[in-house]
Parts: sequence; structure tokens; C-alpha cells
Amino acid sequence: MCPRLPAGWLGLAKGSTMIAHCLLLETDRDGLVLVDTGFGLRDVADHKRVPGLFRALMRPALAGPETAHGQITALGLSPNDVQHIVLTHLDLDHAGGIIDFPDATVHVHRSEHRAAMDRVRRTDRRRYMPAQWAHAPKWALYEPTGDTWRGVPSISQLRGVHEDIGLLPMTGHTLGHSAVTVRAGEQWLVHAGDAYFNRASVIPNGKVPGGITFFEKQVESDRPARLASLAALTKLRVEHSDIAMFCAHDPAEYAALVNK
Ligand SMILES: [Zn+2]
Repeated sequence: MCPRLPAGWLGLAKGSTMIAHCLLLETDRDGLVLVDTGFGLRDVADHKRVPGLFRALMRPALAGPETAHGQITALGLSPNDVQHIVLTHLDLDHAGGIIDFPDATVHVHRSEHRAAMDRVRRTDRRRYMPAQWAHAPKWALYEPTGDTWRGVPSISQLRGVHEDIGLLPMTGHTLGHSAVTVRAGEQWLVHAGDAYFNRASVIPNGKVPGGITFFEKQVESDRPARLASLAALTKLRVEHSDIAMFCAHDPAEYAALVNK
């Protein structure tokens, strides 16, 4: 995405774009697992599926090769092998690709699913696009069970998934927003979705660009919950050196991760 806002205000390098980080996991026992799906092929084929205001402000590329489906194919893998999709939330820039993997089970927090299906509030009608799940996916819905991960409430076991992949409810951006935890050898990956938008947000006393702070307030569903989630993620990041944490949209954070 190339937001129609001053790059510096958003903490982006000039000419840099905002990414939508879809994390693909090749597993021994569960085939391919996709964490978040970005926009999908249908959104590319018909840009009007994405609301005009979003397109005007965020200017998403909406290009076939950039979709998760396109990138999986380019890696020489088969999109048919995507057995599970784990979503941080159901916003239009995260759920657009689920329809490209119609046989996959879609794992998401129950509160998020409810908010997206009901679309009671005006903000929900802007952010959730029913056309993106018109194919009636196999949903697997979760609510907190009393389980914890590193002291934080978690859903550590996803139905039908053998690998250590879990949901860490981090609500506030949306009502059922979650981070996704993945064990990768000695390390744990934490995909924080839209719990934050700039890496400085999870550094104690980090200087978050003004435009990001403004934007986060415009698109939040529950401010106290969002700030509590941010504090919990910051604590996790600071206290555990085996955690690699990243959000969905920060290009510099993504580049640092890829270059490791
Ligand atoms: Zn997003």
C-alpha cells in the first residue's frame, strides 16, 4: 500500500510502501499454514470489492503477483497445499485472500468472527467485507480457555493443527484481534497483526511517528484494550530474547527480519 499521506508523518522512508505481511509456514504435519492473507485474487480482478475510500487513502497495489496465492505459486509451491489459515483479524487487508484457499480451515478468535458477521457498528461495515468470505469457509473459532503463554492469556492449541501455532488475544484494534505465535526451532515468531503499526510502539519509550498514532486512533475499536495489548506485547518483547515480534504493516521491521 502506498498511503496518500506524507511518508515522514507515517515514519516511512520516501517512496517506501506499507506492506501487508502474510507469513507462510511449511510444516511437517499440517501442510502449508498461512498467517493472514492480505488482499486476494478476487480483489485484484475487481477493485470495487475494496471500498473507494480505502483505495483512495491507502492505494493498495491490488496486483496478482503480490497476493499470497501469487507468491506461493512463485515459490514453486501449490496453493492447494494450504490446509490452514490463521488470522490476526478479519479487516479487508487481512482476509481478502482466504477465498483463494477455499479448502483451508480458517482459525480466528470468536469475538472477531462475531463482529465481522454482525457488522453492527458503522466502522465495522467499513472494515469487514462479507464478499471476502462469501464462499462459506470452514471456520474454527476460539475463545480464551484459561490457558496462558509466557504469562499472557492464549489459545495454544488450534483444532486439527499439530504444530505449535497459537492465538494470543490482543484486542483493541478490533474486538477479537489476536497475535499469532509460531514456534520456529529455538525461536518463537509473534505476528502481531495490527496491534501496532510501527516498530517503535513495542520499544519502551519508543518514538512512534505522529501519523501512525493518529491513524491507530481512527481505526481502533476499543482504546483501553488496545493500549493494554500494546503494553503486553512490549513486555513480551523486552523480557524474552527468543521472541521475534513483527506487525503486519511496517516495511522496515519486515526488512530487518528478512535480512537476519
Ligand atoms: Zn491491516
